[in-house]
Amino acid sequence: MKPNVSLTKCYVCGRDSTILLATKYKKNGDPVLDMEQFHGKALNKEPCQECHKNLEQGIILISISDDCKDVNNPFRTGGWVVVKEEAVRLVLPDIDLTKHRIFFMPDSTWLEFGLPLSEYQKNLINNNEIDDSCEKKTEQNANRIDELKQLQSGKDKLNNDLTR
Ligand SMILES: [Zn+2]
Repeated sequence: MKPNVSLTKCYVCGRDSTILLATKYKKNGDPVLDMEQFHGKALNKEPCQECHKNLEQGIILISISDDCKDVNNPFRTGGWVVVKEEAVRLVLPDIDLTKHRIFFMPDSTWLEFGLPLSEYQKNLINNNEIDDSCEKKTEQNANRIDELKQLQSGKDKLNNDLTR
């Protein structure tokens, strides 16, 4: 029998968030929906109860890699703090903190502000390392650009051949 429950993770803090229970079942007892697809994943950006409590106290800052520019799912480097609204207002005076209460902050800014470091961040600093996954992404992009250039020059060549 396939599992009929799954435990989702909170997008904001990564902790266990919600238990989902299948409501519709097939004749053989298996849930209609594949529940495994939700297990251990964040279903949406809705903060868990714990995060909601933290957001009442202040602003949540989450550290991310300097290199990753994927705004929707940036590579997280483990730094995570709740800071007082007044403190954030000092550095981000123009942002409406009634609407925005969760911020991704690049490692370099994180260091600048002297925020508490995660083990992962400490390792990065100690080893003077750039995050591997980001480096790979950059490599991939570089390859893709090369490919495009090659295609482009091939096309130019073809055009030249045709006009001759
Ligand atoms: Zn949470």
